[in-house]
Amino acid sequence: MMPEPDDRRILASWPGRDALSTPPRLLAPTFPILLGLLLALLTACRLPTPVPTAAPTTGPTIESTAVPPAAPSAAPATLAAATPPATISPTARVRSTRAAPATTGPASPSEGEDMSLTVLFDNNPHDPALRTGWGFAAWLEYGGQTVLLDTGADGAILLENMAALGLDPEAVDVVVLSHNHGDHTGGLDRLLEANAAACAGGGKCVTVYVPAGFPARARTVGATVVEVDAALEILPGVWSTGPVGSGLVEQALVVETARGLLVVTGCAHPGIVMIVQTAKGFFPEEKIALVMGGFHILDNTDEEILGIIAEFKSLGVRYAAPSHCSGERARKLFPREYGKRFITLGAGMVITEERLK
Ligand SMILES: [Zn+2]
Ligand SMILES: [Zn+2]
Repeated sequence: MMPEPDDRRILASWPGRDALSTPPRLLAPTFPILLGLLLALLTACRLPTPVPTAAPTTGPTIESTAVPPAAPSAAPATLAAATPPATISPTARVRSTRAAPATTGPASPSEGEDMSLTVLFDNNPHDPALRTGWGFAAWLEYGGQTVLLDTGADGAILLENMAALGLDPEAVDVVVLSHNHGDHTGGLDRLLEANAAACAGGGKCVTVYVPAGFPARARTVGATVVEVDAALEILPGVWSTGPVGSGLVEQALVVETARGLLVVTGCAHPGIVMIVQTAKGFFPEEKIALVMGGFHILDNTDEEILGIIAEFKSLGVRYAAPSHCSGERARKLFPREYGKRFITLGAGMVITEERLK
Protein backbone atom coordinates (compact mmCIF):
# COMPACT_ATOMS: atom_id res chain seq x y z
CA MET A 1 0.00 0.00 0.00
CA MET A 2 1.40 3.37 -0.90
CA PRO A 3 1.83 5.66 2.08
CA GLU A 4 0.35 9.05 2.49
CA PRO A 5 3.00 11.68 1.77
CA ASP A 6 2.37 13.24 5.17
CA ASP A 7 3.30 10.04 6.97
CA ARG A 8 6.68 9.81 5.28
CA ARG A 9 7.56 13.38 6.14
CA ILE A 10 6.56 12.91 9.76
CA LEU A 11 9.07 10.13 10.28
CA ALA A 12 11.87 12.04 8.65
CA SER A 13 11.16 15.16 10.65
CA TRP A 14 10.25 13.59 13.95
CA PRO A 15 11.32 16.21 16.48
CA GLY A 16 13.92 14.49 18.59
CA ARG A 17 16.07 16.61 20.87
CA ASP A 18 19.05 16.16 18.56
CA ALA A 19 17.15 16.92 15.38
CA LEU A 20 18.96 20.20 15.04
CA SER A 21 18.63 20.58 11.32
CA THR A 22 15.21 19.06 10.77
CA PRO A 23 12.56 21.33 12.21
CA PRO A 24 9.20 19.63 12.72
CA ARG A 25 6.77 20.01 9.90
CA LEU A 26 3.12 19.21 9.43
CA LEU A 27 2.31 19.70 13.07
CA ALA A 28 -1.08 21.30 12.59
CA PRO A 29 -3.34 18.24 12.15
CA THR A 30 -2.06 16.44 15.21
CA PHE A 31 -0.48 19.32 17.06
CA PRO A 32 -1.53 18.41 20.64
CA ILE A 33 -0.23 14.84 20.29
CA LEU A 34 2.99 15.85 18.63
CA LEU A 35 3.59 18.65 21.13
CA GLY A 36 3.33 16.15 23.98
CA LEU A 37 5.77 13.79 22.32
CA LEU A 38 8.09 16.66 21.49
CA LEU A 39 8.21 17.74 25.12
CA ALA A 40 8.92 14.17 26.17
CA LEU A 41 11.85 13.94 23.76
CA LEU A 42 13.23 17.44 24.27
CA THR A 43 15.77 16.46 26.90
CA ALA A 44 16.32 12.88 25.80
CA CYS A 45 19.69 13.31 24.14
CA ARG A 46 21.19 15.23 27.06
CA LEU A 47 20.19 12.91 29.87
CA PRO A 48 23.10 11.27 31.68
CA THR A 49 23.78 7.76 30.55
CA PRO A 50 22.84 5.14 33.11
CA VAL A 51 25.57 2.66 33.92
CA PRO A 52 24.00 -0.70 34.67
CA THR A 53 25.70 -2.96 37.12
CA ALA A 54 24.41 -6.27 35.80
CA ALA A 55 23.47 -7.63 32.43
CA PRO A 56 19.74 -7.99 31.88
CA THR A 57 18.84 -11.62 31.51
CA THR A 58 15.34 -10.91 30.36
CA GLY A 59 13.88 -7.85 28.78
CA PRO A 60 10.39 -6.54 28.76
CA THR A 61 7.83 -8.58 26.97
CA ILE A 62 6.55 -6.49 24.14
CA GLU A 63 3.58 -7.33 22.00
CA SER A 64 3.49 -5.87 18.57
CA THR A 65 2.48 -6.50 15.03
CA ALA A 66 5.41 -7.62 12.95
CA VAL A 67 5.47 -7.34 9.19
CA PRO A 68 7.81 -9.54 7.18
CA PRO A 69 10.11 -7.97 4.61
CA ALA A 70 8.92 -7.95 1.04
CA ALA A 71 11.92 -9.54 -0.58
CA PRO A 72 14.58 -10.47 1.95
CA SER A 73 17.43 -12.75 1.13
CA ALA A 74 16.61 -14.68 4.24
CA ALA A 75 13.48 -14.63 6.32
CA PRO A 76 14.04 -13.02 9.71
CA ALA A 77 13.77 -15.41 12.60
CA THR A 78 13.39 -14.52 16.21
CA LEU A 79 16.49 -15.27 18.20
CA ALA A 80 14.97 -15.53 21.60
CA ALA A 81 11.63 -17.24 21.26
CA ALA A 82 11.62 -20.85 22.40
CA THR A 83 9.42 -21.84 19.49
CA PRO A 84 9.89 -19.08 16.96
CA PRO A 85 7.34 -18.90 14.17
CA ALA A 86 8.81 -19.91 10.85
CA THR A 87 7.00 -17.07 9.19
CA ILE A 88 5.10 -14.15 10.58
CA SER A 89 1.75 -13.30 9.20
CA PRO A 90 1.36 -9.60 8.48
CA THR A 91 -1.74 -9.55 10.62
CA ALA A 92 -0.58 -11.87 13.36
CA ARG A 93 -0.08 -10.61 16.85
CA VAL A 94 3.31 -12.00 17.76
CA ARG A 95 4.25 -12.18 21.38
CA SER A 96 7.97 -12.56 21.78
CA THR A 97 10.03 -13.00 24.88
CA ARG A 98 13.65 -12.04 25.33
CA ALA A 99 14.82 -14.95 27.40
CA ALA A 100 18.57 -15.39 27.15
CA PRO A 101 19.13 -17.05 23.78
CA ALA A 102 22.47 -18.57 24.66
CA THR A 103 21.59 -21.89 23.12
CA THR A 104 19.79 -20.53 20.08
CA GLY A 105 22.48 -18.28 18.66
CA PRO A 106 24.56 -19.31 15.71
CA ALA A 107 27.25 -21.84 16.51
CA SER A 108 30.14 -19.80 15.20
CA PRO A 109 30.94 -16.58 13.41
CA SER A 110 30.82 -16.53 9.68
CA GLU A 111 34.40 -17.24 8.78
CA GLY A 112 35.71 -15.45 5.79
CA GLU A 113 32.79 -13.12 5.29
CA ASP A 114 33.78 -9.90 3.63
CA MET A 115 32.85 -7.06 5.91
CA SER A 116 33.31 -3.35 5.74
CA LEU A 117 31.75 -0.66 7.83
CA THR A 118 31.75 2.92 6.60
CA VAL A 119 30.67 5.90 8.64
CA LEU A 120 28.45 7.80 6.23
CA PHE A 121 27.17 10.50 8.50
CA ASP A 122 28.75 11.89 11.64
CA ASN A 123 29.37 15.17 13.38
CA ASN A 124 33.02 14.16 13.63
CA PRO A 125 35.11 14.60 10.47
CA HIS A 126 37.46 12.07 8.94
CA ASP A 127 37.46 12.17 5.14
CA PRO A 128 37.63 15.80 3.99
CA ALA A 129 35.59 14.87 0.90
CA LEU A 130 32.60 14.23 3.11
CA ARG A 131 30.27 16.68 4.79
CA THR A 132 29.58 16.43 8.50
CA GLY A 133 26.38 17.08 10.38
CA TRP A 134 24.87 16.23 13.72
CA GLY A 135 23.73 12.64 13.62
CA PHE A 136 24.93 9.21 12.64
CA ALA A 137 24.69 6.68 9.83
CA ALA A 138 26.84 3.64 9.14
CA TRP A 139 26.98 1.65 5.91
CA LEU A 140 27.65 -2.07 6.40
CA GLU A 141 28.62 -4.38 3.56
CA TYR A 142 28.57 -7.95 4.68
CA GLY A 143 28.14 -11.24 2.87
CA GLY A 144 26.89 -9.54 -0.28
CA GLN A 145 24.27 -7.53 1.58
CA THR A 146 24.15 -3.83 2.39
CA VAL A 147 22.71 -2.55 5.63
CA LEU A 148 22.38 1.09 6.60
CA LEU A 149 22.21 1.74 10.33
CA ASP A 150 20.47 5.10 10.73
CA THR A 151 20.33 7.84 8.15
CA GLY A 152 21.71 10.98 9.81
CA ALA A 153 19.72 14.19 10.14
CA ASP A 154 19.88 15.35 6.57
CA GLY A 155 19.14 13.33 3.46
CA ALA A 156 21.05 15.70 1.20
CA ILE A 157 24.25 15.22 3.19
CA LEU A 158 23.66 11.48 3.38
CA LEU A 159 23.31 11.15 -0.41
CA GLU A 160 26.19 13.53 -1.09
CA ASN A 161 28.43 11.50 1.17
CA MET A 162 27.35 8.28 -0.56
CA ALA A 163 28.16 9.82 -3.92
CA ALA A 164 31.55 11.02 -2.69
CA LEU A 165 32.39 7.47 -1.62
CA GLY A 166 30.94 5.88 -4.74
CA LEU A 167 28.19 4.12 -2.79
CA ASP A 168 24.92 3.53 -4.61
CA PRO A 169 21.67 4.12 -2.68
CA GLU A 170 20.07 1.42 -4.80
CA ALA A 171 22.45 -1.11 -3.25
CA VAL A 172 20.78 -0.81 0.15
CA ASP A 173 18.90 -3.94 1.18
CA VAL A 174 17.99 -2.98 4.71
CA VAL A 175 17.78 0.16 6.81
CA VAL A 176 17.89 -0.29 10.57
CA LEU A 177 16.75 2.72 12.56
CA SER A 178 18.26 2.61 16.04
CA HIS A 179 15.73 4.93 17.66
CA ASN A 180 13.23 7.61 16.91
CA HIS A 181 15.33 10.76 16.89
CA GLY A 182 15.61 13.02 13.88
CA ASP A 183 19.40 12.93 13.74
CA HIS A 184 19.10 9.20 13.00
CA THR A 185 15.92 9.11 10.90
CA GLY A 186 16.15 12.43 9.04
CA GLY A 187 17.75 11.05 5.87
CA LEU A 188 15.30 8.19 5.38
CA ASP A 189 12.93 9.99 3.02
CA ARG A 190 15.67 10.96 0.61
CA LEU A 191 17.17 7.49 0.68
CA LEU A 192 13.81 5.89 -0.12
CA GLU A 193 13.22 8.42 -2.89
CA ALA A 194 16.60 7.53 -4.37
CA ASN A 195 15.53 3.88 -4.28
CA ALA A 196 11.99 4.32 -5.55
CA ALA A 197 12.71 3.92 -9.26
CA ALA A 198 14.86 0.83 -8.77
CA CYS A 199 12.28 -0.74 -6.48
CA ALA A 200 9.44 -0.03 -8.92
CA GLY A 201 11.55 -1.39 -11.77
CA GLY A 202 12.23 -4.74 -10.20
CA GLY A 203 15.42 -3.79 -8.32
CA LYS A 204 15.99 -3.90 -4.62
CA CYS A 205 13.24 -2.60 -2.36
CA VAL A 206 14.39 -1.40 1.02
CA THR A 207 13.11 -3.00 4.19
CA VAL A 208 13.20 -0.75 7.25
CA TYR A 209 13.58 -2.24 10.72
CA VAL A 210 12.41 -0.06 13.58
CA PRO A 211 12.32 -0.86 17.28
CA ALA A 212 8.91 -1.62 18.71
CA GLY A 213 7.19 1.49 19.90
CA PHE A 214 7.74 3.78 16.94
CA PRO A 215 4.66 5.98 16.59
CA ALA A 216 2.02 4.23 14.51
CA ARG A 217 1.89 6.87 11.81
CA ALA A 218 5.67 7.01 11.58
CA ARG A 219 5.71 3.34 10.65
CA THR A 220 3.85 4.11 7.46
CA VAL A 221 6.74 4.92 5.20
CA GLY A 222 7.44 4.17 1.59
CA ALA A 223 9.04 0.84 2.25
CA THR A 224 8.30 -2.41 3.98
CA VAL A 225 8.61 -1.80 7.69
CA VAL A 226 9.40 -4.46 10.26
CA GLU A 227 8.85 -3.65 13.88
CA VAL A 228 11.46 -5.38 16.01
CA ASP A 229 10.24 -6.43 19.42
CA ALA A 230 12.95 -8.97 20.27
CA ALA A 231 16.45 -9.90 19.17
CA LEU A 232 16.30 -10.71 15.49
CA GLU A 233 18.61 -12.02 12.79
CA ILE A 234 17.90 -9.45 10.10
CA LEU A 235 20.21 -11.02 7.56
CA PRO A 236 22.52 -13.98 7.99
CA GLY A 237 25.10 -12.91 10.54
CA VAL A 238 23.55 -9.48 11.11
CA TRP A 239 21.42 -9.14 14.20
CA SER A 240 19.35 -6.56 15.96
CA THR A 241 19.60 -6.59 19.74
CA GLY A 242 15.90 -5.84 19.81
CA PRO A 243 14.71 -2.91 21.87
CA VAL A 244 17.05 -2.24 24.79
CA GLY A 245 16.09 -0.18 27.80
CA SER A 246 12.80 1.36 28.81
CA GLY A 247 11.31 4.68 27.88
CA LEU A 248 13.37 5.70 24.87
CA VAL A 249 14.26 2.21 23.65
CA GLU A 250 16.96 1.62 21.11
CA GLN A 251 18.20 -1.27 19.00
CA ALA A 252 21.81 -1.82 17.99
CA LEU A 253 23.41 -3.94 15.29
CA VAL A 254 25.45 -7.01 16.15
CA VAL A 255 27.54 -8.42 13.32
CA GLU A 256 29.29 -11.77 13.44
CA THR A 257 32.77 -11.76 11.96
CA ALA A 258 35.81 -13.96 12.09
CA ARG A 259 37.35 -11.37 14.45
CA GLY A 260 34.42 -11.52 16.84
CA LEU A 261 31.25 -9.53 17.25
CA LEU A 262 30.85 -5.96 16.07
CA VAL A 263 28.37 -3.90 18.06
CA VAL A 264 27.25 -0.77 16.23
CA THR A 265 25.14 1.74 18.12
CA GLY A 266 23.23 4.81 16.98
CA CYS A 267 23.11 6.89 20.15
CA ALA A 268 23.00 4.33 23.00
CA HIS A 269 20.39 6.20 25.02
CA PRO A 270 19.67 3.17 27.24
CA GLY A 271 23.38 3.07 28.14
CA ILE A 272 26.25 1.82 26.04
CA VAL A 273 27.24 -0.76 28.65
CA MET A 274 23.71 -2.14 28.79
CA ILE A 275 23.71 -2.51 25.01
CA VAL A 276 27.06 -4.30 25.00
CA GLN A 277 25.92 -6.53 27.85
CA THR A 278 22.79 -7.36 25.90
CA ALA A 279 24.82 -8.31 22.83
CA LYS A 280 27.23 -10.36 24.94
CA GLY A 281 24.29 -12.08 26.61
CA PHE A 282 23.12 -13.35 23.24
CA PHE A 283 26.55 -14.66 22.25
CA PRO A 284 28.31 -15.49 25.53
CA GLU A 285 30.99 -17.55 23.81
CA GLU A 286 31.95 -14.87 21.31
CA LYS A 287 34.56 -12.17 21.72
CA ILE A 288 33.50 -8.61 21.11
CA ALA A 289 35.87 -7.28 18.51
CA LEU A 290 34.53 -3.74 18.31
CA VAL A 291 31.97 -1.40 19.80
CA MET A 292 31.43 1.67 17.65
CA GLY A 293 28.96 4.51 17.16
CA GLY A 294 27.23 6.93 19.47
CA PHE A 295 27.85 6.10 23.14
CA HIS A 296 25.79 8.97 24.56
CA ILE A 297 28.22 9.87 27.29
CA LEU A 298 28.83 13.47 26.31
CA ASP A 299 27.65 14.76 29.69
CA ASN A 300 29.26 12.08 31.83
CA THR A 301 32.13 12.81 34.18
CA ASP A 302 35.64 11.47 33.76
CA GLU A 303 35.02 8.99 36.55
CA GLU A 304 31.85 7.73 34.92
CA ILE A 305 33.53 7.36 31.55
CA LEU A 306 36.48 5.55 33.11
CA GLY A 307 33.95 3.24 34.75
CA ILE A 308 32.39 2.56 31.36
CA ILE A 309 35.83 1.83 29.90
CA ALA A 310 36.47 -0.61 32.76
CA GLU A 311 33.15 -2.31 31.97
CA PHE A 312 34.18 -2.53 28.32
CA LYS A 313 37.39 -4.25 29.31
CA SER A 314 35.64 -6.65 31.66
CA LEU A 315 33.28 -7.53 28.81
CA GLY A 316 36.27 -8.21 26.59
CA VAL A 317 35.71 -5.39 24.12
CA ARG A 318 38.90 -5.34 22.04
CA TYR A 319 38.44 -2.17 19.96
CA ALA A 320 36.42 0.92 20.88
CA ALA A 321 35.28 3.63 18.50
CA PRO A 322 33.08 6.22 20.19
CA SER A 323 31.64 8.87 17.94
CA HIS A 324 28.58 11.07 17.33
CA CYS A 325 27.08 11.74 20.80
CA SER A 326 30.04 10.30 22.72
CA GLY A 327 31.59 13.69 23.43
CA GLU A 328 35.14 14.98 23.46
CA ARG A 329 35.85 13.72 26.95
CA ALA A 330 35.23 10.14 25.83
CA ARG A 331 37.41 10.67 22.78
CA LYS A 332 40.25 11.68 25.10
CA LEU A 333 39.80 9.02 27.76
CA PHE A 334 39.14 6.01 25.54
CA PRO A 335 42.43 6.32 23.63
CA ARG A 336 44.30 6.75 26.91
CA GLU A 337 42.96 3.39 28.07
CA TYR A 338 42.65 1.58 24.73
CA GLY A 339 45.81 2.79 23.02
CA LYS A 340 46.09 1.46 19.48
CA ARG A 341 42.78 -0.29 19.90
CA PHE A 342 40.98 3.04 19.96
CA ILE A 343 39.65 3.98 16.54
CA THR A 344 39.05 7.66 15.80
CA LEU A 345 35.70 7.51 14.06
CA GLY A 346 34.37 10.18 11.74
CA ALA A 347 32.50 10.65 8.47
CA GLY A 348 34.17 8.52 5.80
CA MET A 349 36.03 6.19 8.16
CA VAL A 350 36.08 2.62 6.87
CA ILE A 351 36.60 -0.34 9.17
CA THR A 352 37.41 -3.77 7.80
CA GLU A 353 38.23 -7.03 9.53
CA GLU A 354 41.87 -6.38 8.69
CA ARG A 355 41.77 -3.30 10.95
CA LEU A 356 40.54 -5.42 13.84
CA LYS A 357 43.43 -7.89 14.01
ZN1 LIG B 1 18.96 10.26 20.08
ZN1 LIG C 1 21.89 11.00 18.12
